[in-house]
Amino acid sequence: MKTILVSGGAGFIGSHLCTRLINDGQKVICLDNLFTGSEENITHLKDHPLFEFVCKDVEYPYEAVVDEIYNLACPASPIHYQHDAIKTIKTSVLGAINLLELAKKTNAKILQASTSEVYGDPEVHPQQESYWGNVNPIGIRSCYDEGKRCAETLFMDYHRQNGLRIKIIRIFNTYGPRMLPNDGRVVSNFVVQALQNKDITIYGSGKQTRSFQYVDDLVEGMVRMMNTEDDFIGPINLGNPNEFSILELAQKIIKFTNSNSQLIFKPLPHDDPKQRKPDITLAKTKLKWNPTIELEEGLHHMIEYFKEHPLLTQSIGKTR
Ligand code: NAD
Ligand code: UDP
Repeated sequence: MKTILVSGGAGFIGSHLCTRLINDGQKVICLDNLFTGSEENITHLKDHPLFEFVCKDVEYPYEAVVDEIYNLACPASPIHYQHDAIKTIKTSVLGAINLLELAKKTNAKILQASTSEVYGDPEVHPQQESYWGNVNPIGIRSCYDEGKRCAETLFMDYHRQNGLRIKIIRIFNTYGPRMLPNDGRVVSNFVVQALQNKDITIYGSGKQTRSFQYVDDLVEGMVRMMNTEDDFIGPINLGNPNEFSILELAQKIIKFTNSNSQLIFKPLPHDDPKQRKPDITLAKTKLKWNPTIELEEGLHHMIEYFKEHPLLTQSIGKTR
């Protein structure tokens, strides 16, 4: 049995990862300051003898003896990471330093949950890991994008200077149960709006594209990456390469929820990337990994989840 630290473990992806690791028979320490995460996300794990929750901020050092560390602590939705931009960059940079120091002390293997945002508004399509990106260093998304880029740099420097065993994954848009109804990201926004027959908020023309990955596929890829040979460190893309425009996504969700919602168009946020699609050749080759849950199936899971959500049950199905 390994002892595994998951920072950001009470968040959307983190809670699925903690569940997977506990089911695999590992001991899990979930460290989270509950900024965008919640204790409800981990209620099903709380009484498990192998699970421990530590309410703490990664900005400050943490001591424990661990075999592996997954670093997921960081708000991921634009509205949440822009809410306190300075805090966001501190979380990425100081959080990475603190966890890398812990890995150094305990000789743990450490994985960084990086992001497709390191490619910015990409001029290369689809995005391969060798692409350095097109990121605005002074825009409203920079606290997140540059924080994540700096965290990758720190991981590489601790590897080169101190011989740390590191892994870097670049996650593309991921969705699934346990996203908050007010998360602000596109899939949860549209499903919640459609179920309530409220207007669907399209930012810009809706012609911008994203590639949506279901959370279970991601968790499988993360665990496979952690278990690769020490000489394979990444970075590696984890995402579903099927690409959709935001308008297509809205139309699918309206259809699957049988909703009366209308589309409304709102201004496109600054620096909103025009396109996003991972090249996953490396993940296919090195991890023998391929996404298995396509958008239609994943959206059905998401819709069922929000239909039962305690904060929404009152307002679902009301007609316009
Ligand atoms: P999330 O907001 O649900 O999870 C982030 C978690 O980190 C939350 O539980 C939050 O409370 C915690 N956290 C934030 N700041 C912290 C701090 N200073 N100290 C301790 N805990 C802190 O988002 P998510 O979608 O689950 O994302 C998890 C990770 O995956 C993030 O690092 C994100 O950048 C990365 N990622 C996610 C996506 C995606 O599409 N979901 C895409 C790319 C990368
Ligand atoms: N978006 C939208 N309506 C919403 C939320 C998001 O049209 O209610 C758009 C957003 O402008 C972006 C895309 O959907 O072009 C994906 O946004 P999200 O915040 O989910 O992720 P990111 O931009 O970080 O990929």
